[in-house]
Amino acid sequence: VSRPLAGKVALVTGASSGIGEATAYALAEAGAEVAVVARRADRLQALAARIEKAGGKVFVIEADVARPDGSLGLINEVLARGKRLDILVNNAGVMLLSPVAEARSEDWRQMVEVNLVALMELTRAALPHLKASKGHIVNVSSVAGRVANPGSAGYAATKFGVVGFSEALRREVYADRIRVTVIEPGMVETELGDHITNPGMKAGLEQRRAAMEPMQSEDIAAAVLYAVTQHPRVNVNEILIRPTDQE
Ligand code: NDP
Repeated sequence: VSRPLAGKVALVTGASSGIGEATAYALAEAGAEVAVVARRADRLQALAARIEKAGGKVFVIEADVARPDGSLGLINEVLARGKRLDILVNNAGVMLLSPVAEARSEDWRQMVEVNLVALMELTRAALPHLKASKGHIVNVSSVAGRVANPGSAGYAATKFGVVGFSEALRREVYADRIRVTVIEPGMVETELGDHITNPGMKAGLEQRRAAMEPMQSEDIAAAVLYAVTQHPRVNVNEILIRPTDQE
């Protein structure tokens, strides 16, 4: 097996399920030592066991990425255990769909804190180390970061935000040979919809998902792996990826 990421250390947020879990596994399979971060430690431990069984290297960090002032400590823990940082995958996210008129403030705040502010804070804390390693930042946005649909206002605000942040960031750091990639998936079969508090929105999502063949988390992991294994002269800026039968 080829291990193009051997010797590299990656940090994946939201690695306890879905896209983050599949991405962490794929990066480890490609030879990286992976720090897996989320709140559900039992799920992270199960993933770590799976990675180790396959001969990969991994360490678990139980953390809420939205905890104020937590980002420096998190990056320092990765540095202490992994000794370097090459790849930061900002994947942790929540999608609490609701029409604006019915939206709960706590849902909006949680989305902004997790999907956007935590990604920004972690990026800033990681930058000096990524400069040293000529590293790579992968930010998981969404088709909702490109197309704003009714019911997605709050979520789209965070995901459009990720796209804008990432493009400005890319133009600030390319001279340091740090690469920045935005991934914009359409419908992926994960636990993302489980936390929606608006019953109509939750049912609507399930209906849309049942009407197509959604992507699997591994499909997105493959896109991340593609971006981070290109020659250092190649910066894959953006990957917009939909199920074949999604409009
Ligand atoms: P999941 O719900 O399966 O995964 C979300 C992950 O984020 C979990 O590991 C969860 O871990 C973590 N997370 C949430 N809040 C926090 C927090 N405060 N601190 C740390 N970790 C947190 O959904 P997906 O895999 O689908 O979502 C991953 C990303 O992909 C998200 O950014 C989402 O917006 C994006 N995306 C998903 C699409 C889809 O159709 N599924 C489409 C486009 C984009 P835990 O709860 O253990 O903390």
